[in-house]
Amino acid sequence: MNPHVLIEFHRQINGNVCHDCMAIRHIELSDMGVCSQCGNLAQCLDADLIAYYQSRLLSHEFIWRYLPMLRALGSCGEVYSIEHIARVYNKLIEENTFGSEN
Ligand SMILES: [Zn+2]
Repeated sequence: MNPHVLIEFHRQINGNVCHDCMAIRHIELSDMGVCSQCGNLAQCLDADLIAYYQSRLLSHEFIWRYLPMLRALGSCGEVYSIEHIARVYNKLIEENTFGSEN
C-alpha cells in the first residue's frame, strides 16, 4: 500500500493521536502506533478506547499491564473495534471492574 493511501486509511478509522499532535500527554496509557493526524509511527493515545476502559472503572495500571491501548497497533493497518476488544478481554475486564484488582 502506498504511504499516502495508508495515511488516508488511518485517518478514516484510526483513533491514534501521537504525543506531538496531542494537547494533553498521557504517557502511561500510550503505545506505539501510526498517528491518525501526522502519519508518524510514534507513541500514541487512543482516547476513545481509554475512555471505554475508564467507563468500566479499570485502573490505569491494570489497563497498562493487561489491555491493548490502541485499536490500531503497529503499521500493518489492522484496526480492532472497541466491541472486538471488549469481547476478547471480557472476562479480564469483568473480573477487574470496580477496581477489584489484587
Ligand atoms: Zn501525530
